[in-house]
Amino acid sequence: MDAEDLYQRRIADRFDAFDQDGNGYISREDFTTAVSRLLTTFGIPFRSDKGQAVSGGAEAFWQGLAGIADVDGDQRVTRGEFVNGAVKRLRDSPERFAEIVRPFVRAVLAVADQDDDGQAETGELERALLALGVESHTAALAAESLDVDRSGRIDEEEAVTAFARYFMTQEP
Ligand code: CA
Ligand code: CA
Repeated sequence: MDAEDLYQRRIADRFDAFDQDGNGYISREDFTTAVSRLLTTFGIPFRSDKGQAVSGGAEAFWQGLAGIADVDGDQRVTRGEFVNGAVKRLRDSPERFAEIVRPFVRAVLAVADQDDDGQAETGELERALLALGVESHTAALAAESLDVDRSGRIDEEEAVTAFARYFMTQEP
């Protein structure tokens, strides 16, 4: 397997993570599914400040992704659209990706931050990632590695940067 194949395989894994219901395309439903699982896990009502923020953040994330990748405008991002559109374009402009995901990341961290001290702890974030459908080993590793300064807490900047890096993966 050469570097390009490995790269394509990583991208395929990212696609599967977004396609939460596994029906072969990414749509708004995948995002709303993830949001309700997250809110249920943390016992947060949909109609609360945190619930509305995470829902609004997910919608902005979906709109941003669709705006870049949904070439035929059918409100579905297929595997092909994802690989050829989203990943390549976002790799060329990581700051645009950061902009698209920031409200969602901020809201997820707020949900995970149960004692409202302004920062999510690594264990809380791991729980949030599990609720979002991240596989357990990956969630533990991600929560750990997100804590770049080893403070035991995750701040927004660390999370946005790590998410962008994860999504963009490495160039072939
Ligand atoms: Ca789907
Ligand atoms: Ca489409």
